[in-house]
Amino acid sequence: MPKYFNTIKVKISDEEKKQRLEDYKYAIKHGFYFGPPVDIEDFMKRDIFDESVRFKCLKCGFEDVLEFDILEEMWDESISDYPILPCYHCSKEKFVPIDIYHKQTLKVFR
Ligand SMILES: [Zn+2]
Repeated sequence: MPKYFNTIKVKISDEEKKQRLEDYKYAIKHGFYFGPPVDIEDFMKRDIFDESVRFKCLKCGFEDVLEFDILEEMWDESISDYPILPCYHCSKEKFVPIDIYHKQTLKVFR
């Protein structure tokens, strides 16, 4: 859980879990899953959450929701307090979590 912005947590449904389990079994069968083995019974019993972050561009105002898992791979928390990405819309490096967006735009209006 990052300190400087919020994430959106959504509990996934049993249907979604079953689908993920199918994907997992498929990946195992075809040899492209390299992570630790998953305890299937435990997986079905547990509440699983998808975590994502709403982003907004400081330049053009474009908004999108990104998965936190993917974000973690692209962002080094020891280097910056929050990720700054190139905007998908205007391609300026101004795409930040919406909490950061609000903090920065508030400063401008003050
Ligand atoms: Zn933009």
